[in-house]
Amino acid sequence: MSDNKCDRCTNSICCTYTTEALGVAPRSKADFHHLLWQISHVGVELYKDESGWYLMFQGKCEHLATDGRCGIYETRPAICREYTNDWCELDQPAEEGFELYFHNYQELLTYCKKRFKRWDG
Ligand code: SF4
Ligand code: SF4
Repeated sequence: MSDNKCDRCTNSICCTYTTEALGVAPRSKADFHHLLWQISHVGVELYKDESGWYLMFQGKCEHLATDGRCGIYETRPAICREYTNDWCELDQPAEEGFELYFHNYQELLTYCKKRFKRWDG
């Protein structure tokens, strides 16, 4: 990993959120009601890209120092070690690859009402 590139990335974008894949794509009203509950919480977002649906949890890593460096660099988790900055979010925001992106309850509710003709029924 090139240190210079990360040094220029003042927001350390890749250390400011986590994601969790949904095991299966949501299909039923019950599935989306569950997601509406989850996305109602501050910092929880939802997106879909070519590989599936993901919850996104906004919040910076507790090991991210104020100077942008990793406070546990030598022992950082494997996923951090495997992440390469050859082509990362400094080059292209991740959301550019999202097919769907919901930031909050209202955005997801609007989608549900379009997806299910009888959402309120
Ligand atoms: S890997 Fe990319 S997004 Fe992460 S800190 Fe380095 S330049 Fe920024
Ligand atoms: S452990 Fe270090 S590299 Fe991994 S997300 Fe936290 S600050 Fe970033």
